Amino acid sequence: MHEVELATRVLNALRQIAAERGARVVEANLRVGEINEPSSLRLWLRKLGGAEFNSTRFQITHIPITIRCKCGYEGTAKSIDTHLPEPRLGIACPKCGGHELSVTTGQELEIVDVKLEEGARKRRTKKSR
Ligand SMILES: [Zn+2]
Repeated sequence: MHEVELATRVLNALRQIAAERGARVVEANLRVGEINEPSSLRLWLRKLGGAEFNSTRFQITHIPITIRCKCGYEGTAKSIDTHLPEPRLGIACPKCGGHELSVTTGQELEIVDVKLEEGARKRRTKKSR
């Protein structure tokens, strides 16, 4: 249920931005590492965001997992079992199969950019809708 936690964190951050600016978030650009299961995260953002975020577009950039292994391998790797409590344990070196490695990328969870509803503060000027 790692993604639930992450989705909650993202939504809370977006709520805070929306509250500070007094506008709805219409688009959120995220960078999410494969370790954080971007596809699953997207589903949870929808589910947990509910009606509050049903008009928000989530643009998710997937960041592949890359590792540096003790054997000298440097490059991409796959997460084998993401249901382990510590996702890093699920990554093995594709060259030697070992686990003595450090993760270079793939753990990201960033809100890169947020678009807010245009004209949310200009309520005085137009009431066409
Ligand atoms: Zn290796």
